[in-house]
Amino acid sequence: MTNNVRVRFAPSPTGHLHIGGARTALFNYLFARHHRGTFILRIEDTDQERSTKEFLESILKGMEWLGMEWDEGPFHQFERLAVYREHVEKLLKAGKAYRCYCTPEELEVKRKALLAAGGKPKYDGKCRTGDRGLRTTERKPSCIRFKTPQEGLVEFNDICRGRIVTDRKELDDMIILRTDGTPTYNLTVVVDDVTMKITHVIRGDDHLNNTPRQIQLYEALGFAVPQFAHLPMIHGSDKKKLSKRHGAVSVVEYQEQGFLPEAMLNYLARLGWSSGDQEIFTKKELIEKFDLNAVGKSPSIFDIGKCTWVNSQHLAKLSERELVEKTKPYLKGLGLKVEDAEYAAKALHSERERGKTLKELAEISAFYFRDEVVWDEKAKAKWLDEKGKKHLKPLLEKFQALSRWNEEEIKQSFAAAQQELGIQKMLDLAQPLRTALTGTTVSPGIFEVLVILGKERVLKRLGKALV
Ligand code: GLU
Repeated sequence: MTNNVRVRFAPSPTGHLHIGGARTALFNYLFARHHRGTFILRIEDTDQERSTKEFLESILKGMEWLGMEWDEGPFHQFERLAVYREHVEKLLKAGKAYRCYCTPEELEVKRKALLAAGGKPKYDGKCRTGDRGLRTTERKPSCIRFKTPQEGLVEFNDICRGRIVTDRKELDDMIILRTDGTPTYNLTVVVDDVTMKITHVIRGDDHLNNTPRQIQLYEALGFAVPQFAHLPMIHGSDKKKLSKRHGAVSVVEYQEQGFLPEAMLNYLARLGWSSGDQEIFTKKELIEKFDLNAVGKSPSIFDIGKCTWVNSQHLAKLSERELVEKTKPYLKGLGLKVEDAEYAAKALHSERERGKTLKELAEISAFYFRDEVVWDEKAKAKWLDEKGKKHLKPLLEKFQALSRWNEEEIKQSFAAAQQELGIQKMLDLAQPLRTALTGTTVSPGIFEVLVILGKERVLKRLGKALV
């Protein structure tokens, strides 16, 4: 394919960037980058009542966080109203559109009658016939409808869905300009895709029903029809359309939960697309391997367990420096500061396998960064009782006497204390020690924790635990 590929992501700022929208954006992005084409961002904000600045900002932030940089835009439909009206005029002049004076009440009565008779609600074409629709001087409020051709079929080859055929008779005369002068979605999308020279329309298959209508508009305006790729829906684990019921759906929530953007991209790409058995991809690999023809038509399931696993795989690949930088904001969220980057690197690295997200990693590593140990009350009651404290005392003395603080020396002191105290199981000494140092009974290997914390912190924490 040549590099004239032009695709767009066209969100409406009526909500945050959600998983489905982000996946649509990503497939457009990967397709554009793979073919060295152009990725355009277009904001579909003609619905001024439901569109907000906050949602717009949130969408832009989500795109930036995921690293899907766009080449053109963001274009705002609201600023292009004159362009849409121009095209409506063109259709009116060519007799391919007409004014409709039917009142909402009138239409409602007819709609109900049709439904009651078991039919599909469809405009009956009252203003289409005769010259009624042409009397532009009439003062009554009117909207403008597209004069749908009634003969033949609309056909197109969808890259994901194959051949789609619709009988034109099934399509009624849709409104293209509302009574208040605002254009409708099917018109704006066609005018924009044409004027922005879009070559491939890649979007969710909830728009599949709109496509034959849009193709008729392309035809009426005398424009070439782009290629279409309707992406399969994303379902929750219960096979129903992904929604809030299934947990977090907006991308910002995943950021807050400490997912890595590169892991999110990886997981989103796998929702509907695959390349052999490969599960873990870098962004570069995704761009290299992405192929729209490999996208099927069956819905994919959003599985948070799998998404978390993918995240942990990407976490494992970070350098220690990156790990510190990326975990910092989450430590900050817990009120903790990184003062010594080298210490933080060792601390976080020791927990890297257990922490599946940056937030979880910050939480389980928090004990390294706190001035005062926060004790889990249950652990304290069980292991820092009189017996536990009695056992820790000689251990503390042995640690104090150490001139070198390394794993070998520490192990020797521990073994000597265990023997002197006549403790059979290592756990019976390790758990009071772990509780004293970390506040809980779960942590990386106790000797690793001791080495990382360093002598000074260990002595201070043991001293406090013994009070
Ligand atoms: N604004 C539409 C949406 O958010 C975009 C539809 C399209 O891509 O044509 O669903």
